[in-house]
Amino acid sequence: MLTTTFFPTSVPPRPMGHYAHIVLLRETDSYSLFQTDGELNTARVHAGITHDELITRITMFKRKQTTPERLIGRELLRHYGLVSGDSAAEGKDRKTDDRGVAIDPAGRPICDYNVDFCKQCPDCVSYGFAIGDAGSEKSKVYSDTAYSLSAFDSSHESFTLNAPYEGGTMSRKGEVTSRINEQDHVRPQTLFPAVITVRDLTAPLFLYVLGNVLRARRYGAQTTRTGTMTNHLLGIVLADGEIFSNLHFTQHLYDHVAGTPDFDPNQPISVDMALSAARSLLPTLLGADRVAVQQLLVGADLSHFLDDLGARTRAESGMGELLHAAVRDSTAYHAAYIQKKGRGK
Ligand SMILES: [Zn+2]
Repeated sequence: MLTTTFFPTSVPPRPMGHYAHIVLLRETDSYSLFQTDGELNTARVHAGITHDELITRITMFKRKQTTPERLIGRELLRHYGLVSGDSAAEGKDRKTDDRGVAIDPAGRPICDYNVDFCKQCPDCVSYGFAIGDAGSEKSKVYSDTAYSLSAFDSSHESFTLNAPYEGGTMSRKGEVTSRINEQDHVRPQTLFPAVITVRDLTAPLFLYVLGNVLRARRYGAQTTRTGTMTNHLLGIVLADGEIFSNLHFTQHLYDHVAGTPDFDPNQPISVDMALSAARSLLPTLLGADRVAVQQLLVGADLSHFLDDLGARTRAESGMGELLHAAVRDSTAYHAAYIQKKGRGK
């Protein structure tokens, strides 16, 4: 089970060194697009630590990872009535509660993403916000660019996305649709090793962030049928500092995988093989980090923890309880440190 006593009982105003790391292998389940300006994002880096040749890898920027996870959590908060479904009201329509938080007619706080953050919900407190002059809160969830385990050449496919006319044809009155464009896609079963670091959140807020990671399915540019991913949870590490980076993790794992007899750099990497290699690598990588590890939750203990968490969240009452606990902790932090700051101005 997760050592919940490791987590602070309230979110502290200053960094206190409670680091909870979520170690993942992200796996694309369908063709995906992690792109800027129409091109897949890539980086030229060393393949491994011992395999020091340079290769091009597909990259998944930080926001491409955290935004879908935030949005999943926010959807749940609205579903359970803890945050309003309304967008921010302007001028005389704007009503606030005694904490100065904008509310809807039912009294639920309005939290309009990137427009008017409520500053008090689990999303605002955990992932942070910036509202111009009206204040900001640093994110307590850290993530970094993730790199594909396999090289760009074996991890992408270029194909044309057809946008047919309503009759299913590609031409109308003799003219062929111009709604066709050639596009590089990330192949299904491409793996992205990733670490998400949660600092100084309470146990309920950590479970909120973890739940978002386990629930999020859609990443990158997407249609209804593309862009899905599975996040394989390899372990949770509770420590007094930061651990290895995504790139370091990717390169070590690559060395491990490239050392197996069936490895072919031109072929996709077996997911099962990469998962078991990553699991056996985790304690070794942690052993090389200069942090005191209070708990490494892996293997059967991790499975028990996830089964238990799953049993709770599969019932609406259990999910509601978890979210209420997260709201209790985020609103306490708002009352103690954010609301006061705002009034001091
Ligand atoms: Zn909010």
